[in-house]
Amino acid sequence: MPLKICSESQRDKPKEHCAIFGVACDDIGFSISKILYSGLIALQHRGQEATGISLIETGGNIYTYKRKGLVSKVLNNRVLSRLWGNVGIGHNRYATTGAQEYNSPQYLQPFHFKNNEIEFSLAFNGTIPNYTELMKKLEDNGRVFVTNTDTEVIAQLIASLSIGTEDWPEILRLTSKFLDGSYSLIILTSEGDIYAIRDPLGFKPLCIGELKTEKRNLYFVSSESCGIDAVDGIFLRDVKPGEIIHISHQKDIHSEMVLETDKTAICQFEYVYFARPDSIIDGVSVAEARLRLGMYLAKKDPILKDPNIRENAIVVPVPDSGRSVAVGYAKEAKLPYVEGLMKNRYIWRTFIIPGQSRRKAAVKEKLNPIKSVIEGKDVILLDDSIVRGTTMRQIVQLLKNRGGAKRVHLRISCPPIISPCYMGIDFPTKDELIAAKFYEEYGESYIEEIQKHIGADSLLYQTKEDLSRAIMKNENKLCRACLTGKYPLKSVEKLREIEESIAKSRT
Ligand code: SF4
Repeated sequence: MPLKICSESQRDKPKEHCAIFGVACDDIGFSISKILYSGLIALQHRGQEATGISLIETGGNIYTYKRKGLVSKVLNNRVLSRLWGNVGIGHNRYATTGAQEYNSPQYLQPFHFKNNEIEFSLAFNGTIPNYTELMKKLEDNGRVFVTNTDTEVIAQLIASLSIGTEDWPEILRLTSKFLDGSYSLIILTSEGDIYAIRDPLGFKPLCIGELKTEKRNLYFVSSESCGIDAVDGIFLRDVKPGEIIHISHQKDIHSEMVLETDKTAICQFEYVYFARPDSIIDGVSVAEARLRLGMYLAKKDPILKDPNIRENAIVVPVPDSGRSVAVGYAKEAKLPYVEGLMKNRYIWRTFIIPGQSRRKAAVKEKLNPIKSVIEGKDVILLDDSIVRGTTMRQIVQLLKNRGGAKRVHLRISCPPIISPCYMGIDFPTKDELIAAKFYEEYGESYIEEIQKHIGADSLLYQTKEDLSRAIMKNENKLCRACLTGKYPLKSVEKLREIEESIAKSRT
């Protein structure tokens, strides 16, 4: 995926870029295409723009089918009935806007690479910030690119490192030495093997599972454990940061480490927002982490000590992102949890609608307060994050103007986002992030100013310490760069230096 910070006209929530899923079955007469479909459906939340799969067909060729659209549309019954093979990988892509070329088929995944020496297919979740440098070096060595993506850079790197060897673990070990980025990737080789690799800092989740029956054994690799659950698999474990997993339809699952480090940088946002609550990531249940996030917010909330507010208060989630934290908050606060905002499920992807005024109208179309439960109440409103603040402002206005809420107290389970993400999450630029912008403008009183801007009667963010406690991982294990501005990758620091010097030269 090309590195991209989204522009004003796009979403008001950060978005994950992709999902990956792979299956190998030891029964060569069995087709795994429907299993790939089920795994990808379970991972649809990580990417809704395009879907693709690559399969080993009878005879040993790799066949790749990819189109724009949701999994159910792309891999419909007619298509699935034609796809036959016992080993395969799949990919869901998140919607990027931007250059039209990114929507052309060669920009969709899996990326199928074939030349005279090697054939493989690759599905990738992550970002390689310095991919243009690598691309230049590979071009200087005679490699010809058909896209402008880090995905193809990885593929071309693998191809050039594979010259003279068929030792895939060695090829991948070398590949990882050149990649300073966030990546969980799976590769389908023409020999019918799957290799899965997670970067040494472990930004993106990746896990493995199996299903052993009397007739056949199946092995899975998935972005999240909910993908393995969806195919009735047994979750075995997470792929460790820096680990290469070899899944073979003939030889079971094998592992080897590229690099073992004490320090990792697992994306905190997976727990706060991206991942499905029924997933378990690096040993921590996402649902339980969100409940704890709500509980820690309540433990520190000064309004709960005010009897005038307490006796009139209800806890309301922003659907669906605030639900689990609101349950945790309400439990700790011993206050009623109320679904006070009705979501129109048939209007989706509100936050991708271009233009401020259209987006404003879309929020009203999508959410409606339930007046009978909100009117006259002190609404404690829970959500996962505030990015630009535009949507939240709308929701607070809706609760007050249409719902008749007496006061709205906003509680946010993620600390203020002050810096963009360069590791594969679609964030706005720094000057569009409300916390970054207001901090620069108002200094230490920036939270108060955000509260005024949004129109809430009080505002409380999670602390970074409680975020770590809720996720049960300390700062040496988590990436928190969007909350601290300190990036764990050298390539990002370099990129930021370049960006800053360009910005200075413009002023
Ligand atoms: S900067 Fe934030 S969103 Fe990006 S990887 Fe780190 S924690 Fe996740």
